[in-house]
Amino acid sequence: MGLKFFNTLTRKKEDFVPIAEGEVKLYTCGPTVYDYAHIGNFRAYMFEDLLKRYLVYKGYKVTHVMNLTDVDDKTIKASNEQKISLAEYTEKYKKAFFEDIDALNIDRADVYPAATEHIDEMVELVKKLLDKGYAYRANGDIYYKISKFPEYGKLSHMDMSKLKSGARISSDEYDKEAVSDFALWKAWDEDDGDVFWETELGKGRPGWHIECSAMSSKYLGDHFDIHCGGVDNIFPHHENEIAQSEAANDEKFVNYWLHNEHLIVEGRKMSKSFGNFYTLRDLMEKGYPGIAVRYLLLSTHYRMQLNFTMDGLEAAKGALERLWDFKGRVNDVTGTRDNPEASELIEKAKKQFTESLDDDLNISPAMAAVFDFVRDINRLISEGNISQNDAQKVLETIDGFDSVLGLMKRPESDVDSEIEELIQKRNDARKSKDFATADRIRDDLFERGIVLEDTPQGTKWKKKL
Ligand code: AMP
Ligand code: ZN
Repeated sequence: MGLKFFNTLTRKKEDFVPIAEGEVKLYTCGPTVYDYAHIGNFRAYMFEDLLKRYLVYKGYKVTHVMNLTDVDDKTIKASNEQKISLAEYTEKYKKAFFEDIDALNIDRADVYPAATEHIDEMVELVKKLLDKGYAYRANGDIYYKISKFPEYGKLSHMDMSKLKSGARISSDEYDKEAVSDFALWKAWDEDDGDVFWETELGKGRPGWHIECSAMSSKYLGDHFDIHCGGVDNIFPHHENEIAQSEAANDEKFVNYWLHNEHLIVEGRKMSKSFGNFYTLRDLMEKGYPGIAVRYLLLSTHYRMQLNFTMDGLEAAKGALERLWDFKGRVNDVTGTRDNPEASELIEKAKKQFTESLDDDLNISPAMAAVFDFVRDINRLISEGNISQNDAQKVLETIDGFDSVLGLMKRPESDVDSEIEELIQKRNDARKSKDFATADRIRDDLFERGIVLEDTPQGTKWKKKL
């Protein structure tokens, strides 16, 4: 059994076959940098991180592009309200986005093209659509004529019979009720303030959808392997991307469309407009490390809704502690007699891990494989029935799993060396029988949430999370 993905285009699980052997070109819709992203948004980026890391684990060379939407209805409105330039306004949220993905241990994409730096490419694409008769002008704006593209609706599987011919919508976001010709280019109006480009299309700015068609072609080619986003992107955004790109280039745009389900809170999509959202910062201020949020977002299959609760986040912390403690225990193994059971457990865990993730990234049995492995190896350690040689192989296996899961990175690793130094000082104090100093160091560390444990192998420390 090989790698399979559920393709939104066909509504089927399909074998994954890349266009070029051994290589994957991946485009994922990125943030609109008008505010801090909420953890619902990060669910999308987390699923994409899992997808990409797993493709790399399978040996593919992945080229990953994620756009930054730094001009659209929302960014313009917000920057005008604050009376600062669009660039100054969005810069703050671009920076915050990168801080957040680092805290979540999300691997960086190869390119993060910003929309405002690709206006020329968008203009070229709109010109092409005008030339080919897929676009028309109306009141200075330019619209895509969806009746000219008979396959319109193939991704969202929409019934196009209700289509009101010639109806137009200029806003970037709209729902299925408003299916109609959509804006490729918006002529400047007063609400845009100083946000406009003087181009061959006139004075104005691009619509949202044209951005992803233009930038994906530039960095990945006109036809590439995988395109992702949340299910809310299926219509209209991705449907429109297909219409634009396939009409302009006369070839299939994307082979596999993968969409994640929503993160929900009390039965409702987490969203800015419902006011039921947490940013990563909110949760970190409550004392949850980014990696615990990563665990939570990662551990439910991407095509299932994930109900966010604080209890779930607490449980994520506990599970992480178990993983981190395990690695510490394996590191301390000193036995010399190899145990064939250890090798069998390694093979079993690897097999279940890969077979599960091969099946459309089925994360739950993959995580179960990891935790069963932890339990079984812990048993061998408790029995003293494992060698240092076995332990080394266990560590390599865990590192291999973690290249996909990214959970072993303990937070605040930069403070670790400081803690090690304090432990050294305490040990020196104990050697010279200065127990007052030794106890003070121990108490100070305890205050900071660090627990010390003196073992035959030396002093160990861990965080009280
Ligand atoms: P936006 O900045 O609104 O364009 O959203 C960025 C990404 O987050 C898109 O792929 C959305 O589909 C996704 N997204 C938005 N809200 C949620 C949610 N509650 N759960 C999961 N993904 C979401
Ligand atoms: Zn997009």
